[in-house]
Order: sequence, then structure tokens, then C-alpha cells
Amino acid sequence: MTNNIELPVSRRKMMQFGAGFIGTATLASVLGLDLKQPQSAAAKTELTPDQALEELLAGNQRFVQGKTTSKHESLKDLQAISEEQKPFASVLCCADSRSSLETAFDQGFGNLFVVRDAGNVATAEQLGSLEFGSLVLGSKVIMVMGHYSCGAIKAALAGDKVPGSIQSVLTQIEPAVKDFKGQQEDKEAVKKATEANVIYQINKIKKSPVLAELVAAKQLKIVGGYFDFETGAITLVEA
Ligand SMILES: [Zn+2]
Repeated sequence: MTNNIELPVSRRKMMQFGAGFIGTATLASVLGLDLKQPQSAAAKTELTPDQALEELLAGNQRFVQGKTTSKHESLKDLQAISEEQKPFASVLCCADSRSSLETAFDQGFGNLFVVRDAGNVATAEQLGSLEFGSLVLGSKVIMVMGHYSCGAIKAALAGDKVPGSIQSVLTQIEPAVKDFKGQQEDKEAVKKATEANVIYQINKIKKSPVLAELVAAKQLKIVGGYFDFETGAITLVEA
């Protein structure tokens, strides 16, 4: 697997124009996008990475407290951004149907760049998606989020034989949770294994030179999260 994307501009220019500009020509042509105004892409979001994380966590607090603002969720809101998106945050989370992120973070159309798969594992395609979200779209924070009672984590702990391509998902999780093998019935162990998997996937993501450069330029922050379905709270997982 290679993480390198050939950047059409120098590092100095990257600093000058910001994350939205880098790689525009390369990625736009690969993805068939029409990005005619790279400078405006640089101003995708005014938030700093810290402010973007604050907004995510504040939105979750509104959800937990029953004070959601229901913003950016009407057809009119969707139509207003139909030609261009500027998400302020990216989330790599599990495909679990209970991880409804726009609801849990009190966000609407255009706010979150969401990458999902069973077990929130960072394979090459997920990594490429996250790179696109921050490098081209200007997302300022990436949260890798695990959740309460994750079936993928429990299956990885159980180690039973599984059909089809399900094993390829578990193979991505198993190294992260080996200390908790066989403890799939123990709620606390499952939670710890889920957090260990979040940290493991973050460490894979941090090896991306594209994202590492954005982090070094203070254009991006990469954090871990845990979604507790019993309280609704999403808390940070220390990497
Ligand atoms: Zn899950």
C-alpha cells in the first residue's frame, strides 16, 4: 500500500494557500471533479482544528441534553450547497446502524465527511477518502470513532470462523485487540478492545504523509472517539 500522492505544488505554496489547494489538479483529475477555483477551496472552513473538534463535541452535548438545533437539515439547506461541500470534520466510524452521526453530533447536510465500514478500520480506501476529505475539502479534524457493543470487535475477540469476506474485516481488527481475546462477553473488556482498535486505526492513519503534513501545518487534528449508546455521549479516546 502506498500513501503517497504526488503534490503539484511545493510545501511553501501549500502553506501559502492552505490545505484546500494542495493536490487539487491531481486529485480533481483522478476523481473527475471540477475544481476551477482552488483559492476559494482553500477557505473551505474558517474553523481551526481545535474549534472544529469543539463544535463536534458541543453538538454531541446538545444531542445528549435534548437541545438539538436541527440546523442544516432541510431540503433548502441541501439545495444551498448542492454544487459545493465544505465539511468541517471527518469521521471514520463503524457501519453499525445505531451510529447515526449527523444526529449524534447535531449536524446537517454538508457538515460531516463520513467514512464508514464494519469496525471502523482504516484500509487503503478509507485512508484515501480521509485524505480527500482534508486535503481537498478542507476538513479540519478527523475522528476515528468506535462504539458501544460493536459486533465487529466482539467477533474479532471471539475468533470464530466467519463466512465470505467478513474475515477480511476481522483481520484488520485482530492485531489491535489481541490482549482481550476470548473476552467478548465482558462489557468492560469489549469497551477497552474497542478503544484499543480506535488507537490502532489512528496510528495507521497518522502514517499517511499527506495527513501528517496537514497536521504539521496545523491544518488538521486526528483524534479518537467512543460513542456510548446508553448515554448518547461521544467521548475522546486518548491515543
Ligand atoms: Zn460496530
